[in-house]
Amino acid sequence: MKYIGAHVSAGGGVENAPLNAKEVGAKAFALFTKNQKQWNAAPLTAKSIAAFKKNCSDFGFLPEMILPHDSYLINLGHPEEDGLAKSREAFNDEMLRCEQLGLKMLNFHPGSHLNKISPSECLSRIATSINIALDQTHGVTAVIENTAGQGTNMGYVFEQIAEIIGQVEDKSRVGVCIDTCHTFTAGYDIRTKDVFDQTFAKFDEIIGWHYLKGIHLNDSKKELARRVDRHNSIGQGFLGMEIFEVLMNDSHFDQMPIILETPDESLWAEEIRLLYSLIR
Ligand SMILES: [Zn+2]
Ligand SMILES: [Zn+2]
Repeated sequence: MKYIGAHVSAGGGVENAPLNAKEVGAKAFALFTKNQKQWNAAPLTAKSIAAFKKNCSDFGFLPEMILPHDSYLINLGHPEEDGLAKSREAFNDEMLRCEQLGLKMLNFHPGSHLNKISPSECLSRIATSINIALDQTHGVTAVIENTAGQGTNMGYVFEQIAEIIGQVEDKSRVGVCIDTCHTFTAGYDIRTKDVFDQTFAKFDEIIGWHYLKGIHLNDSKKELARRVDRHNSIGQGFLGMEIFEVLMNDSHFDQMPIILETPDESLWAEEIRLLYSLIR
């Protein structure tokens, strides 16, 4: 079974996210558990946590189908000690917020070397950051998202993600989220069944299917291998429609959150309906 949803607003409190997800006909959703553009946030209140859990259970959202996303400010591979310490502290706090909400995963962009350290040093710092967060929290899996490779962002080739995972101590609590837009603009073609299967065979060989915990389903405003992260609405970008039909009919993507991060949220309900209609 496919669990398709969108990255919905948690404005007014995390407890509103499941309501917003329900409204667009989602069976899964993503959210920010705090303002993604600020370092600090008030702790979640007991009232907000209870309302979140109740709304999720009332609307049938299982914790396994909810994929929170961390703040964009966090760089777990930061080259400088101050930035790294601040990022690690913020990430640990986000892991804790997920734990408090009864959630199982936290999705994050691995980090950037900012041309100040080598890529491999950056990957090691990211792995250490994950190890610290896993030590300090319980039951939440750190889910590494592949990137488009924009600027000095790491994690745009599968080998880099495998290198991070290789240095994570508790491999039962690390996973991967594949973003279709990022995959494509990072240079992996996925537009037809043949190349889609070849790309995911590579994913399996280098990382392994068992690490795949979720999908970000986006079309792309940029062409193959441009290394730029610009999402487009489903069917309106350079990916075409075949990839979405292939993915919807591949059982590797069952039982995991498939999350739209497409730019026009007024289309989400329609996009979700369209994606379900592609299932044969
Ligand atoms: Zn994404
Ligand atoms: Zn993106």
